[in-house]
Amino acid sequence: MGKKKPAASRGRTERRALDREVRKQLESKERLARLSSGGAPERPIEVATASLVEPMARASRCVRCDGAVRLDEHVVRVVAEATRGIVAEATRGIVAEATRGTKRSLRVARVSCPSCGAAREIYFAIVAPVLH
Ligand SMILES: [Zn+2]
Repeated sequence: MGKKKPAASRGRTERRALDREVRKQLESKERLARLSSGGAPERPIEVATASLVEPMARASRCVRCDGAVRLDEHVVRVVAEATRGIVAEATRGIVAEATRGTKRSLRVARVSCPSCGAAREIYFAIVAPVLH
């Protein structure tokens, strides 16, 4: 049981080769997106206030299909400067405490594409103007 008919196999093979090609292109697009500004904790987009995070995240495009994205979540993530390892994560509105060492608080916007389902995280750093 479950024996497949060989008749359609050639078309299927071609389709698979095409899928592979498309997938390869998508992977390189996603790799590029991670290397661009905001694509990784090492490369946050610098903004003056936290209120800019959400509009900017919403204005970004899907890295796969260039469609409009949906903002799923906006979180505060504290990363250690030296290792950039994630040391704590707090949900929106709660400021994570940096107790020792040099830590940096980043905003992470999680966006996803309603069309193709691609999800990614965009990193932001709040660079407040110096007040006297
Ligand atoms: Zn998409």
